[in-house]
Amino acid sequence: MADVHNPAQRSFNMSRIRGRDTKPEKLLRSLLHRRGFRFRTNVASLPGKPDIVLPKHRAVVLVHGCYWHRHEGCRFATTPATNAPFWIEKFAGTVARDPQAAEALQENGWRVFVAWECELRREAEATANRLSGEIWAI
Ligand SMILES: [Zn+2]
Repeated sequence: MADVHNPAQRSFNMSRIRGRDTKPEKLLRSLLHRRGFRFRTNVASLPGKPDIVLPKHRAVVLVHGCYWHRHEGCRFATTPATNAPFWIEKFAGTVARDPQAAEALQENGWRVFVAWECELRREAEATANRLSGEIWAI
């Protein structure tokens, strides 16, 4: 199949297809856990099925894959060369659902935080520190 990705990017993208228990997500969980946070994961009863839910802090952390969630300006937010219109529409659906889910959560009193996959890959500890600070700052 012809596409514009180099092998590293392709395997990065493929790794995102399962949508749960992916590597960056696991990494963030372990870093937050080490910082004393206790949470539930992939909570289906909440809008958007958030990845990490911290009931005690009334906070959720969404780990966004750069590819599916179209991280703006990110080198991982590529578009497949084959069947591009299909993908563009599919991506648009995901991108439209993100704020809807966040809004629904906020209306229910949840605070919503986002961690981008590339950020976690680049500087995992710093990302966990940032989130930790944001979660504690009420
Ligand atoms: Zn990114």
